[in-house]
Order: sequence, then C-alpha cells, then structure tokens
Amino acid sequence: MDMGIRGKKALVCASSKGLGKGCALALAAEGVNLVLNARGAEALEATAQEIRDAHGVEVVAVAADITTEEGRAKVLEHAADAEILVNNAGGPPPGNWTEWDRDDFIGAVDSNMLTPIALIQALVPRMMERGWGRVVNITSQSVKAPIPVLGLSNTARAGLTGFVAGTSRQVAGKGVTINNLLPGIHATDRAISLDTSVSEKEGITMEEAKARRCAGIPAGRYGTPEEFGAACAFLCSQHAGFIIGQNILLDGGGINATI
Ligand code: NAP
Repeated sequence: MDMGIRGKKALVCASSKGLGKGCALALAAEGVNLVLNARGAEALEATAQEIRDAHGVEVVAVAADITTEEGRAKVLEHAADAEILVNNAGGPPPGNWTEWDRDDFIGAVDSNMLTPIALIQALVPRMMERGWGRVVNITSQSVKAPIPVLGLSNTARAGLTGFVAGTSRQVAGKGVTINNLLPGIHATDRAISLDTSVSEKEGITMEEAKARRCAGIPAGRYGTPEEFGAACAFLCSQHAGFIIGQNILLDGGGINATI
C-alpha cells in the first residue's frame, strides 16, 4: 500500500535506537525526509547514515536532549516546518510509589508529558495553516492498564493522553491528526533494562525474567521495532486522516480487555 507521504518532512524524536528508530526507518521507507534526534551523537549519526544508505532520503541528525528547552530549540532550528511529528523520549525509571518525591514526578512529567505538548504547540499551528499534518505520540500500555513499578510513567503519560484527547478534536478540522501509540513490551534497550531490574530484584536470570513476561503475552513474544514503526507510518499516512485522538495498543494481546 502506498502511504501517500513521499517527500514529506518528519521530526522523529529520540530515534537513534528502539521504537523511535523503528518509526524513522518505516517513514524513510515511504520516502519521508527526516530530522532525527537523540542525546548521544555517535549512535544518532550511525542511524542517520544507515537510513540514508537504505532509503536515499534526506536525514538531518540533531544531538540534543529533547526534554530540555535548549534541546528542543536546537531541534526546531531544523524541524519547525515538519509535516509529521513523532514524539518520543526515554521512559521514567521503575520504582515504588512510596519512594518518589516531587523532583521525580516533575522529571517524568517534563519528559513524557510537557515535552510532547511543547512540540505539538511548536509544530501543529503551521500544520493547520497548511491543512495537513500528522502527530504520533509514543506513550505506553501503562495508559490503559497501570504497571505498578512504573508509577511515574502511569502518571505522566495519563496527563499527555488527556491533553491529546481534547486537542486532537480541536485541530482535526484543519487536516491535522494527533494519535497515541501504546507499546507493550518490545525488544529494545528499554526492555533489556526493565528485565535487568526484574532479574536483579527477584534473583533470577534474564532469560527467566523474559520468559515470565512472555507468559503473560498471548502472542508469546516481545514486539519488534519494525512492527511498531509500520503502525506509526500508517498513522502518518494519507489513509489515516479519519483516525483522531485514538490510543492504539500494540501489546501482543497482553492487556486482557474487551475494548
Ligand atoms: P530505547 O530502546 O531505550 O531507546 C530510547 C531512544 O531515545 C534512544 O535513541 C535514546 O538515545 C533516545 N532518548 C532517550 N532519552 C532522550 C532524550 N532525553 N532526548 C533525546 N533522545 C532521548 O527505548 P524504547 O524501548 O525505544 O522506548 C521508547 C519509549 O517507549 C520510552 O518512553 C519507553 O518508556 C516507551 N515504552 C517502551 C516499551 C518497550 O517495551 N520498549 C514499552 C512501553 C513503553 P540517547 O540515549 O542517546 O538519548
């Protein structure tokens, strides 16, 4: 299926690795030119070159912390005219609800709620003027079903979800869609770090930690960044113009719910 977005320009945040990279690769495969971002310059430049070589699209790589105002300003120097925005950043650390203080909550809200909101505010007005735009926020399955050790994520991402629910309906009439993709467990560095934390806490091997997690997933495995990227590219396509303010779960069936 032709996604109908060849030649468009996308900003994909936090995209040197993992799910962000999966989204960047899938968009590039559809002929979309990219601005990529991550903090570490070396991995970012390697990913940018991999995508140029594979798909021949223009790729600008901006090394910056997207959760800071200075970092966003640096990225926006190259991406203020992007027609597609994929919001992403690292997730908050696991822990226990009794341990988190104000600074922990402010950090999570800054990274996983206020940063995507700031980028929506920066890019969507121009998309509306042009009459076309796509925003996809990478959030988490924790929005549908809270994960006890990821209370910081549960909290911050719920805030973003509320913002998107209201705002997406205010911009849809101008051809701009805003939706959220909710990953369940995917095979990325984040999954390794979550499994490491379980293995250390429970005194089990990484293989056991992974097998335990897989036992709760009807698909019986972790998702891949490629599958995730393909869903993102579809949401950014011409065909997805009637999908507004939705929360789409990619979790291998892990959340046991009827809707
Ligand atoms: P990942 O494999 O650890 O990759 C994270 C990417 O984001 C890297 O490219 C990293 O590069 C970049 N990044 C992190 N913090 C950044 C920042 N402040 N500014 C700019 N770039 C930043 O993580 P992932 O699995 O792709 O996860 C992506 C998001 O989905 C996270 O919020 C995560 O919590 C959420 N999620 C993931 C899963 C899963 O199973 N993988 C499940 C649910 C939710 P640098 O470190 O060089 O900056």
